[in-house]
Amino acid sequence: MNSLWDDAEARGAIALWGAKGANEDEALRTYTARLLGCNPRLVLHGGGNTSVKTTARDLFGEDVEVLCVKGSGWDLATIEPAGHPAVRLAPLSRLRTLAALTDEAMVNAQRQNLMDSAAPNPSVETLLHAFIPEKFIDHTHAEAVLALANQPDAAGLIARLYGGRVACVHYVMPGFGLARLAADVYDANPGIEGLILIHHGVFSFGATARESYERMIDLVTVAEDFIAGRKSPAKIQRSAVSLAPAADVMPVLRGVLGAAAGSEAPPRWILDRRSDEAALRFVDDARLADWAARGVVTPDHVIRTKRFPLVVSVPAGDLASWRADVEAALGRYVADYKACFERQNARLGGIKRRLDPLPRVIAAPGLGLVGVGCNAGEAGIAADIAQSWARTLLDAEAVGRFAPLGEADTFDMEYWSLEQAKLGKSAERRLERHVALITGGGGAIGAATARAFAQEGAQVAVLDVDTEAAGVAAKAADGAALAVQCDVTDPASVATAFARVCERFGGVDIVVSNAGSATTGMIAHLPDATLRSSFDLNFFAHQTVAQAAIGVFKAQGLGGALLFNVSKQALNPGVNFGAYGASKAALMALMRQYALEHGADGVRVNALNPDRIRSGLLTGEMISSRAASRGVDEAAYMAGNLLRREVTARDVAQAFVFAALMSSTTGAVITVDGGNVAAMVR
Ligand code: ZN
Repeated sequence: MNSLWDDAEARGAIALWGAKGANEDEALRTYTARLLGCNPRLVLHGGGNTSVKTTARDLFGEDVEVLCVKGSGWDLATIEPAGHPAVRLAPLSRLRTLAALTDEAMVNAQRQNLMDSAAPNPSVETLLHAFIPEKFIDHTHAEAVLALANQPDAAGLIARLYGGRVACVHYVMPGFGLARLAADVYDANPGIEGLILIHHGVFSFGATARESYERMIDLVTVAEDFIAGRKSPAKIQRSAVSLAPAADVMPVLRGVLGAAAGSEAPPRWILDRRSDEAALRFVDDARLADWAARGVVTPDHVIRTKRFPLVVSVPAGDLASWRADVEAALGRYVADYKACFERQNARLGGIKRRLDPLPRVIAAPGLGLVGVGCNAGEAGIAADIAQSWARTLLDAEAVGRFAPLGEADTFDMEYWSLEQAKLGKSAERRLERHVALITGGGGAIGAATARAFAQEGAQVAVLDVDTEAAGVAAKAADGAALAVQCDVTDPASVATAFARVCERFGGVDIVVSNAGSATTGMIAHLPDATLRSSFDLNFFAHQTVAQAAIGVFKAQGLGGALLFNVSKQALNPGVNFGAYGASKAALMALMRQYALEHGADGVRVNALNPDRIRSGLLTGEMISSRAASRGVDEAAYMAGNLLRREVTARDVAQAFVFAALMSSTTGAVITVDGGNVAAMVR
């Protein structure tokens, strides 16, 4: 591992953050914290913490010794000086003289001594940073070090490898106890460059930001070189090959999770599959079941991944029998999780409330490692950590044996209130955990709909025949939205698009079949081909999309919502719009047929009838000519409805959201036209 320290960048950091009020210590602290944070082999998702001891000026103009230490909620990769809130050092240091300190009292003492009362909570490892009298301190969960720190004889191995450069600290949960122990070990080993915490991670320190950072890189490199010398890739043979494509398997996994959730958790989960080389080598190894039953590489990960992944069998061609296998495996996983909770909670006197028993990582031979979360972000974090776990475990096995922390210590960390607090408990949005697929997503109504679903928390896939338009709409909807090129009149293109969405998020819950286009011409003179092409796009393409949607809904077994953009033309035809109106009338019948035939599957099927919306179907030019032919201005033409207001794409998007949420409505036609008696359903 190479040092990324760069003198010019360091000077730039001093100038940049200095201009915002940070002193040189704080600026360089921020700079090297980011260098650590940008390397996933060192820290992941809010893991690790860093500090510097410096001075701050109080209200009396006096300089106070402070510890600037990482605050919770900040990620090292993107940290700013505000991410290292300043805490008065003297009162923190004095805590070392106490015989005991509860977590609550520790958190309180840390907050009481903040220079800024509005700052985030200082890290749970703050006291360790305070008790060790080094200016800069860096802490990571470096993979290579963890491969050594999780060996049965980790302390002996580390002593042989590092000599007197580091000292080992046996495992103690983070907090006051660990801080005191680490400081005692530090005092007993003068001249060390860092500490290796068994089953946990590594600390380095130094008089300057650069020294502390480069010692971290050095200590990790020693471990990496040692592992590289022991690795024999030939030991690992890939054996499993999935007989079913991931796009078919993921909805089944998602459905089994949903069925097992019962009353313990919401039924829908977002999945994120990783199939890089290390992940595949890991899941395809004959030792997978044994490895998966060992535990996490650092207890910091347990709140994201639980202690164990769910291991499933290789997906076979017959997904129905594979589904039964997965259900059985998940049933055992849930029972084991509950039994473990009962055992450990009894040890603690029954004070904890059990979390949901579902896995957050699935190890699927032939497919890879799958993260499970309430949204794409959470699933991605679980998947990132699972990949890191697999890499570390493979390295540990190459060196000797991966022997991580046991059940009781891991349980204490999973159920530690200070760890659970890191997850945050904000209320979920109404469509969180749902995947919404929108066709014609690049147009005015489609893009507004994608945005509306994303705002409600759904993972959104924007399909459009125009790749660029799909990309623009996806970007405008949400950072995690997926843009997919799709020609809805081509069944192969539709199948490919659904497969991409299932691979990315695990499945689909809501389909907004929106793509359409209007052709004009008096019906008696309309060329056959024009009428047929209108039916191709406004009827048959919806049928293709609906068939694909039902296929995924059935594989998941979680129900679903199938929504069609029909049009007021289906009920209230306009002169010259025969090709459009006839195909949309047929589409309305199609909607009713799907509602009729799939109600028993929990699939709700509804239609929206929008009218007079500014879009590709109703351009500015058309609006001005129609307004002129009726002798009114454009605004009056657009507001020509009972409510006397223009109806917008946003209104249609909101109606799609409501239609997706209405749990007891199917086969309905909802007008979004400001009120038009001639277009009312009767
Ligand atoms: Zn740590």
